[in-house]
Amino acid sequence: MEEIEPLIAQAAQSLCEASAVVCLTGAGVSAESGVPTFRDAQSGLWSRFDAAELASPEGFERDPGLVWRWYMWRLQQLEAASPNPGHIALAELARTIEKFDLVTQNVDDLHEQAGSVGVVHLHGSLFRFRCRLCAHPHRLREAERRAANPPACAACGELVRPDVVWFGEGLPLDALRAASEAAHGSDVMLVAGTSGLVYPAAQLPLIARQAGATIIDINVERSPISDRANLFLQGKSGEVLPRLAKALQDAKA
Ligand code: NAD
Repeated sequence: MEEIEPLIAQAAQSLCEASAVVCLTGAGVSAESGVPTFRDAQSGLWSRFDAAELASPEGFERDPGLVWRWYMWRLQQLEAASPNPGHIALAELARTIEKFDLVTQNVDDLHEQAGSVGVVHLHGSLFRFRCRLCAHPHRLREAERRAANPPACAACGELVRPDVVWFGEGLPLDALRAASEAAHGSDVMLVAGTSGLVYPAAQLPLIARQAGATIIDINVERSPISDRANLFLQGKSGEVLPRLAKALQDAKA
C-alpha cells in the first residue's frame, strides 16, 4: 500500500483552504464499529437470502415476517455498536471547519452518538418505523422486537415497516435536496467508506466535482469514486480520518 502521509497532508491543506466542506459516508465508516457493510451482510448470517429481497417493497409484500425479523436482527446489531475513531474524527472536523455538512447513507446513529449534529440521512433510519400505507409513525414496543411478523399501524391497520429506503424506492426529498445543495456549494467533498455503487447517493461526488470541488476519497479499496477523486487515501476510515483531523489542526495552527 502506498504511504499516504503526504496525501493526508495535501487533503488537510485542501480542507484548511475550504470554506464549505461536505462529507458523504457509507457503510464502511461503521464497519470498524462491528456493523457489517452491505456486502458483509450478504456473505454473513443471511447469505441464504438475497439482500435485495430483504430490502425491497416486493420482498416485504412476499414475506413481511422474514423482512421484519431481518431488520429486528440488524437493529439489535446497531444498538450494540459504538462510534469508532472515524465517526469521532468527523464530529471533530465539523467543529474545526466553518461550514461542514455530513451526509450519510447509513441507517445507524453512530455519527450522532459521536457528536455530529444535523446529519442528513439519505437512506432513512433503522431506529424509526412507519406504516407502509399511510406513513403514520410507529413507536416500537419491546414485544414487537421478538415477534414473527410486523405490527399493525395504529391509524389504519396496515403493516408497519422500518423507515429506511429500500431498493426501487425514492430517497426522502428533503434529505436529497439538502445533500445536493451541499454538494453544489462545496469546495471540498470528503467521501468515506462507500462503494459508490448505490445511486443517487453516488451522484453527489460527481455533482461536487462538476461544481469545481476537490474530491477526497477514503476507502480500504478502490471504487468508481476513488477513480474520479483528486486524492485517494487508501485505508480504514477509523485510522485515516483521525490522522486527517490531526493534520488539519496542525495546518491551522
Ligand atoms: P457498501 O457495502 O456497498 O460499501 C462499503 C464500502 O466501504 C466498500 O467500498 C468497502 O471497500 C468500504 N469499506 C469497508 N470497510 C471500510 C473501512 N474500515 N474503512 C473505509 N472503507 C471501508 O456500502 P454503501 O456504499 O454504504 O452502500 C450500501 C447501502 O447499504 C447503503 O445504502 C446503506 O444505506 C446500506 N447499509 C447501511 C449500513 C449502516 O447503516 N451501517 C450497513 C450496511 C448497509
